Amino acid sequence: MNKKPVIAIDGFSSTGKSSISKEIAKKLGLIHLDTGALYRGVTFFALQNCQKNDEIDLPALFSHFDDINLEFKEVNNTLILFLNGKDISKEIRTQQVSDNVSLIAKQPEVRSFLLHTQRQIAQNGGVILDGRDIGTVVLPDADYKFFLTASIDKRTERRFKELQELGIPMDFELVRENLITRDKIDSSREIAPLIQAEDAILIDNSDINKEETLNLILSYIKP
Ligand code: C5P
Repeated sequence: MNKKPVIAIDGFSSTGKSSISKEIAKKLGLIHLDTGALYRGVTFFALQNCQKNDEIDLPALFSHFDDINLEFKEVNNTLILFLNGKDISKEIRTQQVSDNVSLIAKQPEVRSFLLHTQRQIAQNGGVILDGRDIGTVVLPDADYKFFLTASIDKRTERRFKELQELGIPMDFELVRENLITRDKIDSSREIAPLIQAEDAILIDNSDINKEETLNLILSYIKP
């Protein structure tokens, strides 16, 4: 009997990691976990509950981890993120969350808080996790590892379109700046930085569409 695989998809912001992972999960019958949503969920909590002088109060956030219950629930075949019982799937995509998430994600306290949640979900196999440190830190023994990249122009276009579809109006240049800033903070942080795992397959999808990226990734996965 073939055991279902554990797949790690890492890469830069807006390379399509989550939507492609979702399709792979559907095709291979895996559970998909968008780990960026968890970091966004913690950021949303901090913005709501841990602010001092218009800034996020990090010590206050660290002392409130017990009050943060993040869960994914399936609604109409889509996994929706709930924070303490409330659907926050739209709230975590706002520009305010995007502007603050990398600051929150570079805190060692936050990373170790979420590491446990991610590994727990992956422990029985049959999963695909997408994020920044899945192949390097969260699941170093994953059966397959991919690292997605694309030009900044293509990534800005994709993110801009995604926000438009969500009904979140945003300036094109601000979207671009946010992607550049986040990638810089994510790549240069001390703990679990965004880097390609040595054994990850590099996929540049600047000039291929979502379906072609999906097929390319699937071509590496043995049935
Ligand atoms: O994937 P997404 O763009 O939604 O991720 C939002 C942010 O969460 C990233 O810019 C990064 O700061 C953080 N993140 C992370 N590690 C992960 C997934 C996301 O640090 N595994």
